[in-house]
Amino acid sequence: KSDGSLSRLDISKLVLTLTDSPKELPPPETLKFGATFTDHMAIATFNPSKGWSAPEIKPYSPISLDPASSCLQYSSTCFEGMKASKAYHGVDGSVRLYRPDMNMRRLERSAQRLALPAFDGDDVLELIKRLVMVDKRWIPSSSGYSLYIRPTVIGTRSELSVSASDHAILFIIMSPSGPYFPQGLRPVSLLAVGENVRAWPGGTGSHKVGGNYSPGFLPQQIASSQGYDQVLWLFGNDAQVTEAGGMNFVVIIKQEGCDDYDFITAPLDGTILPGVTRSSCLSLAGDPSFQQATSLRLRTVERVYSMQDLTEWFTQGRLLEALCIGTAAIVAAVNKIAFEGKVITLPEHEAGLGPVGMALREKILAIQEGRDEYQGWSVTISE
Ligand code: PMP
Repeated sequence: KSDGSLSRLDISKLVLTLTDSPKELPPPETLKFGATFTDHMAIATFNPSKGWSAPEIKPYSPISLDPASSCLQYSSTCFEGMKASKAYHGVDGSVRLYRPDMNMRRLERSAQRLALPAFDGDDVLELIKRLVMVDKRWIPSSSGYSLYIRPTVIGTRSELSVSASDHAILFIIMSPSGPYFPQGLRPVSLLAVGENVRAWPGGTGSHKVGGNYSPGFLPQQIASSQGYDQVLWLFGNDAQVTEAGGMNFVVIIKQEGCDDYDFITAPLDGTILPGVTRSSCLSLAGDPSFQQATSLRLRTVERVYSMQDLTEWFTQGRLLEALCIGTAAIVAAVNKIAFEGKVITLPEHEAGLGPVGMALREKILAIQEGRDEYQGWSVTISE
């Protein structure tokens, strides 16, 4: 964190302008992920002589940008994806954010990686809380529904010389979202791709920067045209398994000689995004109280593993579950993985998820919805 005075967003100077034409709330069942936005947005601008402007909450509206802006020319843009939920089911109706500190630290790191002007994530979090309360009526109130929050920082230096942007805009928009899979927990199919590489050690794969995403659109289109839901990103000559689409990836492997399971996921070596859900699942899976409550005996393993390892575990009958994990879907089961013309198929479960995936999903949902106060991960916003 930087403590320079220019890097502070002063929330005490917040300017609040409410819309005089609030939108009608869409029926929850029509909500598509990230397609509908709330009435208001938050915004602040940075210039090198004055630092951060007074933050503003105002009606949702377009932003005007110089065509030479750094973000448009050189992808100096980073963002976060996080959730607000309402506690219900007889709980207090309070508004909750899920582990927002982790998103704020990641946003600070992403902005730093792009040499964007510094800010304190705690100030951004305060601004997010104010915005969520202004648009509180947009938080859907049934289980599995939430308000997806997208804080974004863009470089707005309007010169074409290739260098760091000393001007920036920070804005926050929000989208009410239904369950990732509205028809229930549908398993996803993956096409493992080695010829297009998403990230590599020393690159930007471990940061949530815009430039990581657009090069993935074409491989994703190709996967879709072949009937697969997402791309499984590989790295290196030995086809190391990294992550899937916009989610981290986990496999559950039966240990040799006993009934315990290994919970295996790629390490934070620069080739994957350090997901909040990944971190949550690792903590839960390794927690003896979670294991006892769910009767699951798990050993968490962060290691490099390849498509060859995956294929071996599959042929040995030890590959029990494969999971995509991330904020939007929380936990989704994988039912097949195609690689070089061969297909690994996974057991399908009537409930849509196997025992490990289901236990993790249920626990995280309960924490997000205020039914479980586990480790203070669910943070209440007070009025
Ligand atoms: N990997 C990538 C590339 C992502 O974009 C995301 C979504 N932020 C994730 C993993 C999952 O991260 P999180 O659990 O923090 O949503």
